[in-house]
Amino acid sequence: MRPIILPANQPRHFYRGGAAIARFRGEPPADDHRPEDWVGSVTGRFGAGPVGVSVLPDGRPLPEAIAADPQGWLGPAHVARWGDSTAFLVKLLDAGQRLPVHCHPTRAFAREHLGCAFGKTEAWLVLDTPGHGDGLVRLGFREEVSAERLRVWSATQDRAAMIEATRPVRVRPGDAVLIPAGLPHAIDAGVFVVELQEPTDFSVLLEWEGFAPAGDETGHLRLGWDTALECVDRRAWSSDQVAGLIRTRADMPETAPGVRRVLPESADPFFRAELAGPGAELSAGFAVLVVLRGAGELRHGTQRVELRAGQTVLVPYGAGDTTLHGSDLEVLRCLPPAPGAESTP
Ligand SMILES: [Zn+2]
Repeated sequence: MRPIILPANQPRHFYRGGAAIARFRGEPPADDHRPEDWVGSVTGRFGAGPVGVSVLPDGRPLPEAIAADPQGWLGPAHVARWGDSTAFLVKLLDAGQRLPVHCHPTRAFAREHLGCAFGKTEAWLVLDTPGHGDGLVRLGFREEVSAERLRVWSATQDRAAMIEATRPVRVRPGDAVLIPAGLPHAIDAGVFVVELQEPTDFSVLLEWEGFAPAGDETGHLRLGWDTALECVDRRAWSSDQVAGLIRTRADMPETAPGVRRVLPESADPFFRAELAGPGAELSAGFAVLVVLRGAGELRHGTQRVELRAGQTVLVPYGAGDTTLHGSDLEVLRCLPPAPGAESTP
C-alpha cells in the first residue's frame, strides 16, 4: 500500500473562514464559509450523512476503502480495539470570525445519550495567529457556574455573560492546546490550527444566536437543552489548570531523532501527534501527515512520495516503516489512540 496525497475536503459551515487553508495549501480560495478541511475523515457532519467524509483519488469514500481491508489500512492492534474506525479525525481549521462558546460531550455522555462510543476531546496545534503574534482562545469558566445560571445564559443567549465567564488565553504559532471533552471553549478570529479530535461532529453550542441558523435545534444535538447542557464542565478552572492544557515548543520532548511528542500523555486515549523532520524513522502505522514547512520526501521501501508544505497525506499501516528526508521539512504526524491507552469514564 502507498501513502495517498489528499485533496482539500471543506464542507460548508455556519461560520466564516477558509482563506488561511487556501493560502496554506497554495490553492485558490473557496467561498468564505468553508473554514474546515476534514483530513482522512470517516466522520460525517452531524445530521448531514456523508458530507465531511474523505473521498480517495480513486473515487472511493475512505470508510468503504478501509472496510475492504481494515488490517492493511489500520494494522492488527488497532483493528482489535477499534474495528474499522480510524478512531480519530484531523482538521485544518481557520477561524475567519470568533467561534461561539461551545463544548463537546465526553465518551460517557455520548454512549449514554448519543449511542456512540466516541465523544469529542480535541487538541489544536496553532499554525498562525493575527499578525503572527498573540492569538486569543478561551478555555473553561473562571468561576464555577451553576446549572441554573447556565440554563438562563443559554435560554436568553446572554453572549456577554458567557464570554466574560471564560478564561482568555494567549497562544502563538507552534503552541499546542488540549481541550478535554466538556470544557467550554472558543477561538478568536484569525487563529488557524490543525485540530485533532475524536471522530464525531458533536458540538453543544452555548452561544448560537447570530452564528448557527438552526442553533436552537442542532446546538443541543437534538437532545433538548436540559440534557445537552449536562455535558458542560461548569467547574472553575484556575489559570494554572488552564496553563496545564498548553504546550509550547520548548515543552515538546524529543522522543527519537527528528521526532517530538506534541501532546501530553493524557491525550493518548484519544489521539497522538508528533512533529517530525529530516532523518525521522517512523514505524508502520495509520497516520495523517500535515506538511507544515519545507519540501522533501517520504520514503517507504524503495518507493518515495514527494512532500511540500501545505499537503495532507494519508499513510496506511500497509505502507510499512517510513523515513523523512529534506533539509527544511517539518511534518505534523497525527496518529490514532495509543494502543492500550483507555480513557477514564
Ligand atoms: Zn470545539
